[in-house]
Amino acid sequence: MAERKAIPAATRLHLFSDAAGFCQKPDCLEALFPAEMGGDKHIAEMAHVIPHGDAGPRHGDRPADDFDPDAFENLILLCPTCHTKIDKDPEAYPRNVLLDWKANHLARLAHKQGIRAYDDREHARAAVAGIMAENRAIWEKFAPEEGSDFEYDPESATAPAWDERMRSVILPNHYRTLAIIEANLGLATEEERRTFAEYQEHVRGLSERHICGVSGRAIRFPASMKEMFA
Ligand SMILES: [Zn+2]
Ligand SMILES: [Zn+2]
Repeated sequence: MAERKAIPAATRLHLFSDAAGFCQKPDCLEALFPAEMGGDKHIAEMAHVIPHGDAGPRHGDRPADDFDPDAFENLILLCPTCHTKIDKDPEAYPRNVLLDWKANHLARLAHKQGIRAYDDREHARAAVAGIMAENRAIWEKFAPEEGSDFEYDPESATAPAWDERMRSVILPNHYRTLAIIEANLGLATEEERRTFAEYQEHVRGLSERHICGVSGRAIRFPASMKEMFA
């Protein structure tokens, strides 16, 4: 349905990073930056759990207290097909079901992607290293300005290709790596936990820049990630 006003950038960022680039309907989990669209376009739709008006889908589920329909808590990120489904059949998709999808999205995504807790560091390392190697290869080939992914000239010819790869491959790989490390934090040393915190901040900055178009400060990829679970 039509939005009354633009959803704030911070709310959009929160939604996109929580969704990790995938539709939040658990039996869908469609990529929201489809590789076949080159990664420069997304198909994500911010769907209202409770609508603005008194006639929209699920308006009967509106909480009694003060309620902001455009707040993060009332939005869910879906592909267009799933957005249509939930709005055409609100009885099948009440508020509590949608909020459950959102709350358990990362766990379901991790399960679908085969992400799990390993028994030893060697296996955790192998899972992380393979994905990071792919990102590194893309970075070496496409990153503008000698690999500085933070201070590139947006006018330069390399920037669009970099943006595409960032959204279709690099960021999804980062989200996947975050999920793997999170599932295996029990195997990490104190130092590796600090590295993980820095890495989370790095990915947050990349998401902000490449998904929300906010030119905020992003910290560098922590060099110590090379040693994760080593
Ligand atoms: Zn809407
Ligand atoms: Zn979907």
